[in-house]
Amino acid sequence: MPPINRTKPKFPPKTPIVGEPHTSAGATDLQPFDRRSLLKLIHATIPLPTREENCADGSLVFVGGDPGEVVVRVAGSRITISVFSIVFEGPHTPVVRTQPIMSLNWRVVPAVQLTSLLQDMIETARQLRQSQFRRCNKCGETKPPEWMFDDDSCQGCVA
Ligand SMILES: [Zn+2]
Repeated sequence: MPPINRTKPKFPPKTPIVGEPHTSAGATDLQPFDRRSLLKLIHATIPLPTREENCADGSLVFVGGDPGEVVVRVAGSRITISVFSIVFEGPHTPVVRTQPIMSLNWRVVPAVQLTSLLQDMIETARQLRQSQFRRCNKCGETKPPEWMFDDDSCQGCVA
């Protein structure tokens, strides 16, 4: 995998989501998110456009970016951040194959730490994915690896 291109311009920083800890007596800075706040944080952090999918196993999957860049899966108390990736199983069968980079129990991690972890890891996943994009020498457009025919040309220019 090529090194991450750190000179790429970053998206404008998004407004950090302030946690909505329970305000009952005894609440501390170590209070974790509730599910609603977690989903709100994911929506505010993941790249646009965002697709959201309810899976048969009860988990909730968010795919950010088009072409996809970041995948966030919430399954019970577990949240997993992955780099979006497509592999071909046969010449015409693209299959989404995510590469997990972080997985943790969001119900126990304090909201403040979870917010910064999620923002960091989503940004990291986005950079890892974008570092794989290639510029087509024929049309000049930057495309994800699965749309490239070879290092030089995209599939659209070869077809
Ligand atoms: Zn092209």
